[in-house]
Amino acid sequence: MKVLVTGGAGFIGANLCRELMCRPEVDRVVALDDLSTGHADNLDGTGAELVEGSILDAAVLSRLVAEADSVVHLAARPSVPRSLADPLASHDVNATGTVRVLEACRREAVHVVAASSSSVYGSVASLPKHEELPTRPLSPYGASKLATEAYVLAYGTSFGLPSLAFRFFNVYGPLQPAGHAYAAVVPTFVDAAMRGAPLLVHGDGYQTRDFTFVGTVTGVLADAVLRRVTSDEPVNLAFGTRVSVLELTHRLSAVLGTPVEVRHGPPRAGDVRDSQASDERLRRLFPAATAVPLEEGLRRTVAWF
Ligand code: NAD
Repeated sequence: MKVLVTGGAGFIGANLCRELMCRPEVDRVVALDDLSTGHADNLDGTGAELVEGSILDAAVLSRLVAEADSVVHLAARPSVPRSLADPLASHDVNATGTVRVLEACRREAVHVVAASSSSVYGSVASLPKHEELPTRPLSPYGASKLATEAYVLAYGTSFGLPSLAFRFFNVYGPLQPAGHAYAAVVPTFVDAAMRGAPLLVHGDGYQTRDFTFVGTVTGVLADAVLRRVTSDEPVNLAFGTRVSVLELTHRLSAVLGTPVEVRHGPPRAGDVRDSQASDERLRRLFPAATAVPLEEGLRRTVAWF
């Protein structure tokens, strides 16, 4: 089996390439990535091939999709603050780029699994977030991911394209970069704690997130590819755990075996207050899926740093 992973040199993409190459059914994995936030060396030792190029390039996409049995579409500008700074750039990659990937898949009738985001729920307050809830994105990023999944679902119903759109929640783990303005909370905290620097919490710290270890996510993605799982509705890819950002600092402190200093800053624009997935639909489609617990995931993340 041959799998194309768009955004395959990024954090989730490179972890997925490694996972796929370990599966006996898979004999070739190609990562298409423009290296805008991904890194070629994330793929070192995985056996996956890197093609440096953009999903906005129809020619390269056509060629690679024609050689694939399945596509996992992860390429995106995956950041709320970057989307606030430049909404059109996020739209180009996340919305238009997705249509380009889907067009190539439609021509070849290739199964596609794509990444949407919990950010589509936005200001919808009820918990847990189940997929039947309305969507109210709070940021251009959230709106562009809603477009991503809406196009995936529309290609399924309009053209019978075998497809699946997952809503990822807060994914963390090895290869997730720290140390820049757009970094996610777990690597930012791990990096600061390991340097003995204070952990900067935006707002009061009681905002909650459903943290999902990257190995849990790639396990489900690989299973979706191998079993050609499809759905005409979006599927949350998280397991309904809800941890506040302050609680995360305590758990990290316990994993490191040292106290950590917490400082509070202003809340961030576009951030949602609470996030917790309903995993009912996920468990129906992936009954064998299990989640790596937060402490274990944090231990593996700290070991990678
Ligand atoms: P990432 O930035 O590490 O990965 C995105 C990859 O896409 C990068 O390697 C980047 O270079 C590549 N890319 C960007 N524009 C491209 C283009 N035009 N052509 C080809 N490649 C391009 O981020 P990630 O966290 O691994 O995110 C992967 C996917 O998961 C994204 O679609 C993101 O929206 C989604 N997601 C992630 C999270 C999370 O917690 N990390 C949560 C929800 C959704």
